[in-house]
Parts: sequence; C-alpha cells; structure tokens
Amino acid sequence: MSNPIRLGIFGWPVAHSKSPQMHEAAARALGIELRYERFGVAPADLQEAIRQQHEAAIDGYNLTVPHKESVMTLIDEVTPEAQAIGAVNTVVRTNERYVGHNTDAPGLVRSLEEAGIQLAEARVVVLGAGGAARAAVVGLSGAGAEDVTVLSRRPEQSVALCDSLAKQIDCNLQAAPLSEARACFASATLLVQATSATLESNAGAADFAASLPIDALPPDAAVIDLVYKPLKTSVLAVAEQRGLTVVDGLGMLLHQGAIAFEMWTGLEPPLDVMRSALKG
Ligand code: NDP
Repeated sequence: MSNPIRLGIFGWPVAHSKSPQMHEAAARALGIELRYERFGVAPADLQEAIRQQHEAAIDGYNLTVPHKESVMTLIDEVTPEAQAIGAVNTVVRTNERYVGHNTDAPGLVRSLEEAGIQLAEARVVVLGAGGAARAAVVGLSGAGAEDVTVLSRRPEQSVALCDSLAKQIDCNLQAAPLSEARACFASATLLVQATSATLESNAGAADFAASLPIDALPPDAAVIDLVYKPLKTSVLAVAEQRGLTVVDGLGMLLHQGAIAFEMWTGLEPPLDVMRSALKG
C-alpha cells in the first residue's frame, strides 16, 4: 500500500482554517489516503518549520496570512504568475523540488466563471490594494479583462500596485483614490471588493458599504466580495438590494483549494463535497 499523501497549511493563527476539512473530505470521497495538518507557525519560525517539513518530504502545503510572501525565498522555484502576484499560497513537491504557485488568482477567475460573469473585455474596479487585490488584478487581466481600476483609501498603495504590475499584465490598468469611486463605478461591469473592511470582525463594515456609491454601478454590473466571513457581506447586501448580480467569496476559497488538490493528487476534485465541507 502506498503512503498517505501528506499535506498541511502554515499560518499564524491557523486554527480557523477550513482547508483540512475541505481536502480530507475530498480525499474520502475519492477513496484516497490523505492527511492535512495545521501548522501554526510564527513568522520568525517559518524558515525552520519549512526546512523540517521539506526534510520529511511533505508532498505539498498551503500558506495563509502572514506567510504567503515570506515563503517565496524558502522554496526551490516560484511560477511566473505567483512571482507577478508576489505571493505563494500553494507549494507542490515536483521531482523533489518544492514549487510555489498562486491558486488564488485562478480560483477567483473560476468562481466568477461559475457564476456566469463575463470576464472577456470586462471593465473591472478593484477595491483595496493588498495581496488579494493583487491576485485579482493578475487573474482578471489574464482572463481577458479590458480595463482594471484599483481604488485604495491610501492613494499611494494602489499607485504602487499598478506601477509594479504594469509591465507584467495585458489590460489597461490604472490607480485611483477611493474618493473617486463614483466616476469609476459608472462604467464598470464588475466590482471586486478586495479590502478586509467587510469582515464580520470589523465594526465599521456597514459604514464602509454605505460609503460606497453602489448606486452609480450600471444595472447589469456584478459585484463579488472576496471576504467570506460573513458570506453575505455589507457590500453584497447593498448590491443585492439594488438588484445587481452578487457573488460571495466562498467560490474563490473553494476553487483555490480545488486547483491545489488537483496539483497535489492528479485527480479531479469533487467540488460539491469540498463546497459542503467549507460550509460545515
Ligand atoms: P491585506 O491586509 O493585504 O489588504 C487589505 C486591504 O484592505 C488594504 O488595501 C487595506 O488598506 C484595505 N482596507 C482595510 N480596511 C479598509 C477600509 N475600512 N476602507 C478601505 N480600505 C480598507 O489583505 P488581503 O488582501 O490578503 O485580503 C483582503 C480580504 O480578502 C481578506 O479579508 C480576506 O478575507 C479576503 N480573501 C479572500 C480569499 C478567498 O479565497 N475568498 C483569498 C484571500 C483573501 P490599508 O492598507 O490602508 O489598511
């Protein structure tokens, strides 16, 4: 009998992660042996923790906050897409080399495609300029978006994001301050909420949604919020009230995991099983 596939997730904290349930449920459904552990590792200990797991020939792993960037110097290779995004969330052991990928970007694209959102020639507004926004810009421009505008409350943050990506992506990319949202929203086909402002732990989530000119979006625009706690964020609730198409962040979480599962096992991921495990 072959050894079980051994995987895990490095984070700090990591107790909240539902990735173990998701991947173990998928493995059970397919009848394969797989163990997926949580590695709660502080930033200062990451290098040694990764070294130990590589020595023990772990088959692959995920990284979550705050390790997605710092892992990049601790592995053998980083794909060009992950390099452009500046973050690795999935590492795969390939021919005894540890290769870093970013599955957040294609995970977002798949979740939007699954929801029937047109991405070719889309005119996208991204709110926020952190790691998730960066993945969104790279993913959506790769999926054929024509125009991407990044809005951030600190204007220098979206300018830096756009400057650093300008040469690596194909679409018309620009930065603007959040205060210019109304003009940008008016011509958008898709709004991507990629700030952490709508997290349920944020007391100001409702005020943040109320401050956005959602009424300026065209009636056929779609809105996705990458935050999945809660599933119906304050921004999605306002967009839904206006009759816009809304997509929650669970699909991105599911698909980033499903793409990783396929890379680790070579098997088609059982999406419904994985989705139920995330909701459980
Ligand atoms: P970062 O901390 O890297 O970036 C957060 C961004 O949100 C920053 O630009 C920050 O601006 C901005 N922001 C926070 N609060 C406000 C506010 N009140 N008004 C305006 N801007 C604000 O986080 P990530 O980019 O990694 O993640 C963002 C969110 O996306 C997370 O909450 C996470 O839950 C979600 N996510 C979901 C995934 C999925 O699979 N569905 C995958 C990855 C992330 P500033 O720097 O000025 O504070």
